[in-house]
Amino acid sequence: MGKPTGFLEFERADRKYEPVESRVKHWHEFVVPLAETELKTQASRCMDCGIPFCHNGCPVNNQIPDWNDLVFRGNWKQAALNLHSTNNFPEVTGRICPAPCEAACTLNIDDAPVTIKSIEGAIADRAWQEGWVVPEPPEAKTGKKVAIIGSGPAGLAAAQQLARAGHDVHVYEKNDRPGGLLVYGIPDFKMQKDIIERRVKQMEAEGVTFHCNVQVGKDISSIELESTHDAVLLAMGSEHPFDFFAKSSGRNLDGIHYAMDFLPQQNRRVAGENQRPGTREISARDKHVIVIGGGDTGSDCIGTSFRQGAKSVTQLEIMPRPPVKENKALSWPHWPMKLRVSTSQAEGAKTEFSISTTGFEGENGVVRKLHYTRVDDKMQPIPGSEGTFDADLVLLAMGFSGPIENDVVKELGLKVVPRGRFKGLDATERDYKLPGDNKLYAAGDVRRGQSLVVWAIREGRQAAHAIDKALMGVTALPR
Ligand SMILES: Cc1cc2nc3c(=O)[nH]c(=O)nc-3n(C[C@H](O)[C@H](O)[C@H](O)COP(=O)(O)OP(=O)(O)OC[C@H]3O[C@@H](n4cnc5c(N)ncnc54)[C@H](O)[C@@H]3O)c2cc1C
Ligand code: SF4
Repeated sequence: MGKPTGFLEFERADRKYEPVESRVKHWHEFVVPLAETELKTQASRCMDCGIPFCHNGCPVNNQIPDWNDLVFRGNWKQAALNLHSTNNFPEVTGRICPAPCEAACTLNIDDAPVTIKSIEGAIADRAWQEGWVVPEPPEAKTGKKVAIIGSGPAGLAAAQQLARAGHDVHVYEKNDRPGGLLVYGIPDFKMQKDIIERRVKQMEAEGVTFHCNVQVGKDISSIELESTHDAVLLAMGSEHPFDFFAKSSGRNLDGIHYAMDFLPQQNRRVAGENQRPGTREISARDKHVIVIGGGDTGSDCIGTSFRQGAKSVTQLEIMPRPPVKENKALSWPHWPMKLRVSTSQAEGAKTEFSISTTGFEGENGVVRKLHYTRVDDKMQPIPGSEGTFDADLVLLAMGFSGPIENDVVKELGLKVVPRGRFKGLDATERDYKLPGDNKLYAAGDVRRGQSLVVWAIREGRQAAHAIDKALMGVTALPR
């Protein structure tokens, strides 16, 4: 611990944001980084707890007190080495992780955790600026060949680990560019895409081959991949959206779309990439937008709608408004249920809690109104509370039930259960090999159900460990 009295002397201070009025006029990131002196001060607040709850709260088990100390002492290069030993893409988590580590920090008992996420992001950005992040090709090749289906954070983390272990790694991705939801889901204003491009370049130099625009199960058979590779990792994510309104009146009106039909279009526009063939473009410009569902996806729809020039954005959440402050005695060091206002919500969205959509109404086949009822704490309708909202564009952001089942899953005859988990594979355990006599492994949202980027990175790393061990008998890859 650099400064034993740091947490007593200094208040928590975190990164600020560009004002709403200017940031909604562009698509790039709007977080203002902390100055180096401020970062050192913030790092000095870390108490180097005997039991560092932050370390356990972090799904990749980042060695947080160690790099806080290194930053305090100005040893940024060592901090970057330490950080990369547990996390392949800290510049990503330093931007878009909800930071369960901060919820777990001992100083969060007092509502002022160490600014772990900002320090992590700063270490990673510094490492890139200084040129410390370089390809790490293996000293020797193993002669083993691994196919990875899907290039989201789980597929990328696994690919990097396996290539560094000496395997010949081939990543198959149905989209134009690698990155999964990092590239096509998360908007540029939360994370610019050059962040992923430079990682992809690093991985190519480490020996990973990316095959983009290839949908496995359609353009190439997964059965063929299994027969021509020593292992196949399924990292296809959880892309099948929930739709609780399938039988609601007016559901087939134009202007009602899944979030993931809307968000990737904007990311493609920003990148100058063509839309997928047959795409009908969706825009929030001059529209009253209703976003159904909370979470990151809902927030991303809000921020994107404002930047496209929406007239108004209203978010509907069926759950009751959570408490502003959690009961620490019940929640700490776990992730607490409490009211959080995302940067996108803070751009002017109105959020309605305890509300359920009952149908849609339109004119000339296009949605114009959304019908709702208020619900009680048991989510039962409250008679007499019905009403309508103006709605020219309705975005469904209610989560994802599991993988798309009409390509790889169907071809391999895999049994999926709700939330995407494969039958016989316990997603709560470190069990990445699919049951049976096959070469199949699974990691990320396809294995654990829709989750977070940091969990996908962890799963990719652990799946790589399992594959390397199965292929070589022993492995030096961390679990
Ligand atoms: C809009 C949105 C915003 C989010 N924001 C955040 C956030 O801010 N912070 C956070 O921590 N988490 C966030 N998440 C969750 C996070 O993005 C996911 O948990 C994470 O990306 C899962 O990683 P993955 O590698 O398992 O799958 P994905 O990222 O979904 O990647 C799967 C990849 O597989 C490809 N694929 C699928 N089938 C095939 C096939 N048959 N052939 C070839 N390729 C295929 C897909 O095209 C995709 O590229 C968000 C999710 C969404 C939808
Ligand atoms: S829990 Fe907080 S104070 Fe303790 S070691 Fe981790 S970051 Fe430092």
